[in-house]
Amino acid sequence: MNKEELLKIKEKALEEHIPIIMDDTLETIKKYISNHKLNSILEIGTAVGYSAICFTQFLAENGQIDTIERETERVKEAKENIKKAEVEKFINIYEGDAVEILPNLNNKYDMIFIDAAKGKYPFFLKEALRMLNKNGIIFADNILYKGYVMSDYNKHKQRTAVRNLREYIKETTQSPNLETEILEVGDGLAITKLKNS
Ligand code: SAH
Ligand code: MG
Repeated sequence: MNKEELLKIKEKALEEHIPIIMDDTLETIKKYISNHKLNSILEIGTAVGYSAICFTQFLAENGQIDTIERETERVKEAKENIKKAEVEKFINIYEGDAVEILPNLNNKYDMIFIDAAKGKYPFFLKEALRMLNKNGIIFADNILYKGYVMSDYNKHKQRTAVRNLREYIKETTQSPNLETEILEVGDGLAITKLKNS
């Protein structure tokens, strides 16, 4: 990976207020998976490719990242960035709405990073669980959404997002088959694994 280019990509994204993964969130993910190289990663929400490029450091030699983005302009910039960072052979972008693309995917993933429309998190979870490897791990970013999710906040145009993030937390923490931690890093990170794996 070209680290100098990665820094430029990060700076430009921050300048343009693109909500890229925060440093402490990335560090936390790194801690959770650093013991083993991954063969496959699924990301929902590519934006300009920053997090996907960062995640290539977790991959085994022939590992692959599939990432989904619905905004054409962002897909275009992501492709340019991925090329600049010299990680093209690791990343495959699906252009379109994840709600339509996910049901058509049938791969198995070692890690799934959910980082797109907050109102769709329960749906993304269902699809992620269907495609998660037995020893896999799901990270959901922005799970605490500026603190709204854990407060009594519910009168705002964002209330659908908040309701669905709460639903995601409820499902992942109360399901007998899942083990979940909610961390206050970045904008909140939910970390879910299958039990007994
Ligand atoms: N993971 C990126 C940031 C993603 S920002 C990083 O850390 O670098 C969230 C992105 O998800 C936005 O670019 C938005 O266009 C995209 N998105 C939101 N809802 C989506 C959906 N339903 N399908 C596909 N992409 C979606
Ligand atoms: Mg995010």
